[in-house]
Amino acid sequence: MLDTAFFVRWLTATAAAVERDADLLTELDSAIGDADHGSNLQRGFRAVTASLGEEPPATPGAALTLAGRRLISTVGGASGPLYGTLLRRTGKALGDAAEVSPAQLAEALRTGVAAVAQLGGAKAGDKTMLDALEPAVEALGSAPPPDGSSSFPAAARAAAEGALATVPLQAHKGRASYLGERSIGHQDPGATSSALLIAALAEAAEA
Ligand code: ADP
Ligand code: MG
Ligand code: MG
Repeated sequence: MLDTAFFVRWLTATAAAVERDADLLTELDSAIGDADHGSNLQRGFRAVTASLGEEPPATPGAALTLAGRRLISTVGGASGPLYGTLLRRTGKALGDAAEVSPAQLAEALRTGVAAVAQLGGAKAGDKTMLDALEPAVEALGSAPPPDGSSSFPAAARAAAEGALATVPLQAHKGRASYLGERSIGHQDPGATSSALLIAALAEAAEA
């Protein structure tokens, strides 16, 4: 079972990955956007980390909804409301349980990712964060490895592969879509940060 401490570890590991890779995320966004994705997420996840310390959440659901609210209130760019919706809706789907199973988290994340698709109007192949998030949710939703190990590492691999697979795509949503065919040949910043989020899930499970 996954307790509140697991979810705090997940969010903290995501914040650390964003700090580590902020320059890369901004560099990717400078090729097909406005060069702020790293600093947007840095601002957002620093606020998340601060809030987790100031008002420690009592449940897994509360941890994710708190993080989602902070991202929405601190990140001005498209990614703030989108990641905020992802975490808020995933948290809401977990309800007020003190512990949740990996299967319940997989199902809740599916709901959260669907909410991102609805809010942003994007679908798989549009060269957005969904190109990493949807394969991750698929990997989490399929049967767990027979040896009893967790599906999180497979989800992390699926998300990283999904992010890489955005390189040859043309963007159909967000700022990158303004470039038309010139968006081809660059990795999507949001798909790249989504891969960090899912990798952090695997990290939190290892600890
Ligand atoms: P902004 O584009 O407002 O500067 P960011 O640079 O922080 O915001 O985030 C850009 C990322 O947001 C993109 O790389 C893409 O993955 C994601 N994104 C943008 N628009 C959408 C959308 N409509 N649906 C899903 N993801 C989107
Ligand atoms: Mg940007
Ligand atoms: Mg911007």
